Amino acid sequence: MKRNTLLSVLALIVVMSMMLSACAPAAATEAPAAEAPAAEAPAAEAPAAEAAKAIVGISMPTKTSTRWISDGESMVKVFQDMGYDTDLQFADDDIPNQLAQIENMVTKGAKVLVIAAIDGSTLSDVLAKAKEAGVLVIAYDRLISNTENVDYYATFDNFGVGVIMGTQIETGLDLKNAAGPFNIELFGGSPDDTNAFYFYDGAMSVLQPYIDSGKLVVQSGQTGMDKVGTLRWDGTVAQKRMEDLLSAFYTDKKVDAVLSPYDGLSIGIISALKSVGYGTAEQKMPVIGGQDAEVASVKAMIAGEQMFTVFKDTRELAKQTAAMVDAALKGVEVPVNDTKTYNNGVKVVPSYLLTPFSVDVTNYEKYLVESGYYTADQLK
Ligand code: BGC
Repeated sequence: MKRNTLLSVLALIVVMSMMLSACAPAAATEAPAAEAPAAEAPAAEAPAAEAAKAIVGISMPTKTSTRWISDGESMVKVFQDMGYDTDLQFADDDIPNQLAQIENMVTKGAKVLVIAAIDGSTLSDVLAKAKEAGVLVIAYDRLISNTENVDYYATFDNFGVGVIMGTQIETGLDLKNAAGPFNIELFGGSPDDTNAFYFYDGAMSVLQPYIDSGKLVVQSGQTGMDKVGTLRWDGTVAQKRMEDLLSAFYTDKKVDAVLSPYDGLSIGIISALKSVGYGTAEQKMPVIGGQDAEVASVKAMIAGEQMFTVFKDTRELAKQTAAMVDAALKGVEVPVNDTKTYNNGVKVVPSYLLTPFSVDVTNYEKYLVESGYYTADQLK
């Protein structure tokens, strides 16, 4: 019996020590859990630290044009250097996609939205939600219309962009001196982008008097944004329209100039022109420009196919936007230089307009290479 008792005691000791050791790991895991409140102190600090690092949602329209990629990348860099977090999204020129991306940014707690809209009139609902959440909204490059929930607009002098286009055509055809008449066809940008109207109006402020006097003739008769607009700035649409114009109105006439408000359209238009023999010694390429200084178009300029482009330094626009955001969040005066021009249908949006530059073969090295926008190799 004694032996049995001893065995029982031993067994009990074994079982108890097993139970204890079984508890040990639990106790070990619990220990940090028990310490969690202590660990929560830094955890509680983390959101505070993050609150200082406000998230800036950056919604760009598309990657098909390199300018928007540069815009997005420049902004990420500038905002992050200033101590902000960023959430950069590209919407593939798809409106529901852009709406979903912006909504998601708001849900994820973005303090700021910087938006280059695909269609500036489609954002009212999502921006109402953003406002409810106290989000600062900046229209980037393109105006956001039909809503009061847009705080500031950072862009270029868009009418001025058009004036450059008109003036370069005036110079290219020597309209002030030459007798003419010259044939011109007009292309506009996307009718859902208010910029397209400013570009067109700016260009026409120079060209219309020549059309009125008969020195410039639009053989197709197609004038006005409702006839010459190019939905979504689509180069293939512009190419098709140019092909149609050439076969309908120019089988026995030549085109002397084309107004094209974007390099991506000019590529399509030039290709239509080339396909019927323009761009040779016998049949010169019409005067045609573009906008954005896209690499392929700068190359076309160097090759003598495109006469000029309007260069808008996206790095500067990114910096300007970040400066406006930073001022607004700090509650200090936000730098704006235009409080009259951009009426979005509901209010005049306080804006900052940067200066666009006319770039051609004589000065592209200064503007595009020496400024570091492109390397010389990229343009070879
Ligand atoms: C921009 C232009 C650009 C066009 C097509 C406009 O809103 O201001 O720079 O060429 O969109 O992307």
